[in-house]
Amino acid sequence: MSSRPKLIANVNRKICVACGTCVTQCPKSVIDVWRGSFAVVALAQCLGCGRCAAACPIGAITLRERVKSEGETL
Ligand code: SF4
Ligand code: SF4
Repeated sequence: MSSRPKLIANVNRKICVACGTCVTQCPKSVIDVWRGSFAVVALAQCLGCGRCAAACPIGAITLRERVKSEGETL
């Protein structure tokens, strides 16, 4: 029995414009913009709530299923 969320945010780095909007919307503060280039999500802490995906102006974030290696530290 695990309460670990099954979904995580997935950033498409090729289209992310590093605007930072998703960073301000994450309730867990687990998104950072890496060197002004693209958003990076700390996957182990992501709740899969989808707020970042809803907020991204260009649709660069989608939710995908978490694989086991991404949830070990939660
Ligand atoms: S899905 Fe939710 S918890 Fe995960 S990075 Fe996006 S806003 Fe943060
Ligand atoms: S809101 Fe979208 S475009 Fe802006 S930094 Fe986040 S993922 Fe990139």
